[in-house]
Amino acid sequence: MRRPVIAGNWKMFKTVAQAEALAEAVCQGASGDVDVVMAPPFTALSAVAQVLKGSRVGLAGQNMHHETEGAFTGEVSPAMLKDVGCSHVILGHSERRQLFGETDEGVARKTGAALAHGLTPIVCVGETLAEREGARTMEVVERQVERALRGLSADQVAALLVAYEPVWAIGTGRTATPDQAQEVHAFIRKHVSGSHGAPAAAALRILYGGSVKPDNIGALMAQADLDGALVGGASLEAFSFLKIVHYPPDVR
Ligand code: PEP
Repeated sequence: MRRPVIAGNWKMFKTVAQAEALAEAVCQGASGDVDVVMAPPFTALSAVAQVLKGSRVGLAGQNMHHETEGAFTGEVSPAMLKDVGCSHVILGHSERRQLFGETDEGVARKTGAALAHGLTPIVCVGETLAEREGARTMEVVERQVERALRGLSADQVAALLVAYEPVWAIGTGRTATPDQAQEVHAFIRKHVSGSHGAPAAAALRILYGGSVKPDNIGALMAQADLDGALVGGASLEAFSFLKIVHYPPDVR
């Protein structure tokens, strides 16, 4: 049994005070049978860590550098994320790949570094609309997964999270259908079974991301290979995020 994970990516939203209020509300409403993770902006990590102290809710950075320290102006290291109280880190989000030149190799370096520092990576993969329309979805997703996980042990792969986020579904209100998502999730699991063995593939939790809302989470989570969601817009309000966290129990 894979324990479901619902993670909220707050992107570049929320002042410290707003972040504390949202974290407090989510923390109070989060249930025990789903892993809940929040990814505030760097500026609010410390304050949110204080709010989450003693709870089971995880804290994630939205990105990091692969080095532990050094002359890298504007960057944050895995050791710094760990020090501030993070348990997770989002890596290779499509906004980082598209807007900030993140490469498969960079994501791979960061994934290894996160694991070495005891952070759980949430490795994002997903095709653009042009790639989907060109029937290249599986080729693109396979390349991204293969490069990110290359060189990791089966145990490391079993412990991390992969988020399948079709780029055309992020922030667009256009969600992948449950069948479309399931097809790619099953493909990723099959690929990981080949690369790292069946036990690692069976343990790997694969999240779906892309316009997840309270009204579509149930149908998505009913799919066999969907183990949770990475939520952007709907994670910015406690009411909608908690509705997603408390998705219908009959599909659990
Ligand atoms: C995301 O940013 O990871 C995301 C899935 O955003 P949204 O839910 O707004 O589509």
